Amino acid sequence: MENSAVLILSGGIDSSTLLFLLLDREYEVHALTFHYGQRHSKEVEHSIMVAESARGRGKVFHKIIDISSIRELIMKGSLTGEDEVPKAFYTEETQKRTIVPNRNMIMLSIAAGYAVSEGIREVYYAAHRSDYSIYPDCRKEFVKALDLALYLGNLWTPVEVRAPFVEMEKSEIVALGLKLGVPYELTWSCYEGKDRPCLSCGTCLERTEAFLKNSSKDPLLSEGEWERAVEIYEKMKAESPV
Ligand SMILES: [Zn+2]
Repeated sequence: MENSAVLILSGGIDSSTLLFLLLDREYEVHALTFHYGQRHSKEVEHSIMVAESARGRGKVFHKIIDISSIRELIMKGSLTGEDEVPKAFYTEETQKRTIVPNRNMIMLSIAAGYAVSEGIREVYYAAHRSDYSIYPDCRKEFVKALDLALYLGNLWTPVEVRAPFVEMEKSEIVALGLKLGVPYELTWSCYEGKDRPCLSCGTCLERTEAFLKNSSKDPLLSEGEWERAVEIYEKMKAESPV
């Protein structure tokens, strides 16, 4: 289908921005959100809110895919297992603990199968560069290799993987999203499953940094929470070896 795209939507900042970018480019978007056995369903709830709000901008189909039955196979990562979520900027060591093994490959593979069955040729995901990140499946080498594999594996109905943010920092993504009017108050990043963001896990810190670099308040947070988030960020930054 011309001008249709499958998008992996997590309900976080990056994939929500990509959703609004695709709609701005007049794509019909088939957003897939994976419930892969995260400790909490906060991300899933927020992906629903983001997709609903995006319907004002264009055609959006949203499906929640429950792959939580693989939980017992992959539960060693701290997103699904018993480990504590690290309370600091990511280091190579702490970030490794948050990796769900082969997560992007699993999700992209399902997304590509869905794309083929719907006659859609492009699959998008919001991999990006980060000072703290070591996720190998967010690097452009991985995107290129998977793109080739999907082409070869579906020769008669080729599917392309696109990761337009792969060379961008989170703050650059937020800069783009602020221009596009992405409703960041509906997005969720924290790895803790609490009612409100913890403000001090690796993703919360990255989120605070991204808005700070844009001289902008995170609209998800109240004034008081934002002040605290900035305080925590600055304290951690001063103590951080990075
Ligand atoms: Zn957090």
